[in-house]
Amino acid sequence: MEETRITKSDGVRIVSNMTDYDALSAAFSWQQGRALIDGLPGGKMNIAHEAVDRHVSAGYADQLALRWITKSGQRHDFTYGDLQREANRFANVLRAQGFQKGDRVYALLGRVPQLYIAALGTLKAGCTFCPLFSAFGPEPIRARMEIGGANALVTSARLYKRKVKGLRPDLPDLRQVFVIDDAAENTLPLADLMRVAPDHFKTEPMDPEETALLHFTSGTTGKPKGVVHVHDAVVAHNWTGHIALDLRAGDIYWCTADPGWVTGTSYGIVAPLTNRTSMIVDEAEFDVTRWYDILQNERVTVWYTAPTAIRMLMKAGTEAMQGYDFSALRFMASVGEPLNPEAVIWGNASFGQPFHDNWWQTETGGIMIANYAAADVKPGSMGQPLPGITAGIVEMDGDSGALREVTEPGAMGELALRAGWPSMMRGYLHEQARYDKCFRDGWYLTGDLAMRDADGYFWFVGRADDLIKSAGHLIGPFEVESALMEHPAVAEVGVIGIPDETAGELVKAYVALKPGYEPSEDLRLDLLGHARKHLGPAVAPKDIAFRQNLPKTRSGKIMRRLLKARELGLPEGDISTLESDES
Ligand code: AMP
Repeated sequence: MEETRITKSDGVRIVSNMTDYDALSAAFSWQQGRALIDGLPGGKMNIAHEAVDRHVSAGYADQLALRWITKSGQRHDFTYGDLQREANRFANVLRAQGFQKGDRVYALLGRVPQLYIAALGTLKAGCTFCPLFSAFGPEPIRARMEIGGANALVTSARLYKRKVKGLRPDLPDLRQVFVIDDAAENTLPLADLMRVAPDHFKTEPMDPEETALLHFTSGTTGKPKGVVHVHDAVVAHNWTGHIALDLRAGDIYWCTADPGWVTGTSYGIVAPLTNRTSMIVDEAEFDVTRWYDILQNERVTVWYTAPTAIRMLMKAGTEAMQGYDFSALRFMASVGEPLNPEAVIWGNASFGQPFHDNWWQTETGGIMIANYAAADVKPGSMGQPLPGITAGIVEMDGDSGALREVTEPGAMGELALRAGWPSMMRGYLHEQARYDKCFRDGWYLTGDLAMRDADGYFWFVGRADDLIKSAGHLIGPFEVESALMEHPAVAEVGVIGIPDETAGELVKAYVALKPGYEPSEDLRLDLLGHARKHLGPAVAPKDIAFRQNLPKTRSGKIMRRLLKARELGLPEGDISTLESDES
């Protein structure tokens, strides 16, 4: 366990939103968190009201809400007033096309303003918003639209033609596709509809427990899981943004995550707007110079990014930072995968402050464990539970099967959270049993292994399952295996994550071929191409290796854990269920 500490000066503590972690943790209740939210008459609420309407009503219509930087570097600004009018127009378009409260509106878009407008307009209309990552291929898109019963989709003509058009016969619930740019057959032109739509809309008052957001996450087996979040989640989005990201009204805030994933929604749309910051949205992909230019030129004050990006910046070295002025930066945070201690220390040396690692998952809806502006940072640790959150290390008693909290400092076990915070998932869509399995004796079980030190800091150890984290994206091996199994040459396939210096892990597939097929470089490239076409670059394996056999259980399940241990030369662990020992 790393014992270095980056100690915060009293000055930093005093100016941060939270001055005393221990005192606030002892005193805070979610009732207090709820009091920070406006709410709507009769105990109703709506995330979009908290994000936009209330700021406009309070006189902040002219404050910058979103600055969009196009790939070519042009800036387009949207004030809170603009965002409200555009979201109202979108809500009116939905109504005019017959969409009602409870309908599910999906978005498959890059980082463009229409994505943010669609998200807010959908919530205003009382519909459920579900973002899809634009680098998904047709298979992940089909699975997620089928499971969620998508009723409407907002996309671009290019993405529609390449990825969605061919799926339409399989998506009977999909009533309308809105296209933001060029015309495409069987779709509606969103810009034309928006132009004539009224810019007033009465935001739908929702019960706090009604569904607002649907996010998909991967499972080790079976289909992706549709994680349900309700309007009440905004209480946690707002609070965690305030405490864990130290957001304040007027901040220039840049979350580099794509809204196709949960971070890009909770902390790329909701939390920054409820905290009345001005968000930077960059349409382009990662680029060292571009990122340093944005940080400097936009005078970013709070920056929320991810370990893969930080490692790429580190690789570019200090020369790439020469001459830049990052004096506006007040707080830097990271999430999504383990942040190595060197990256935290590099941040401190290069920017004059550490990256503050924090931990959460799609299911938790918001940040649960964090390093704070007001607390010392231990490089390599995820930090301490948020005020309002109780975290623990638990283990299953082998004989009785009962859950036991492990309190000895340094002991490893499964990371668990006391159930009941506002942004906790309310279900896996259509999968009650899978959902129920996540809860036990009042704990939510995260599926991550961790330990807690004597000071109450949590340290990530690994995942308890086979899920792969590559460049911050959670990838289910089953989804990748299923796509490869569709190739005529493939008899068996096992997919694992192999360590990678930059991306954390890379997806690698091990394939056993059907009789009549021989391993060759051509076949390997063909399989890689097949996977990329069906799954998209974000999910497809980066490498494929041929094997005669794959290790399996007696019931025929590929033992990914053993495959990984063998490939990486790690201890094999319990192999009592192994069917044959040939690999
Ligand atoms: P997702 O649901 O896609 O956001 O992925 C959540 C998972 O990412 C967690 O269960 C962890 O395995 C991993 N993760 C997220 N944040 C961290 C972190 N700060 N350190 C280590 N792993 C993390």
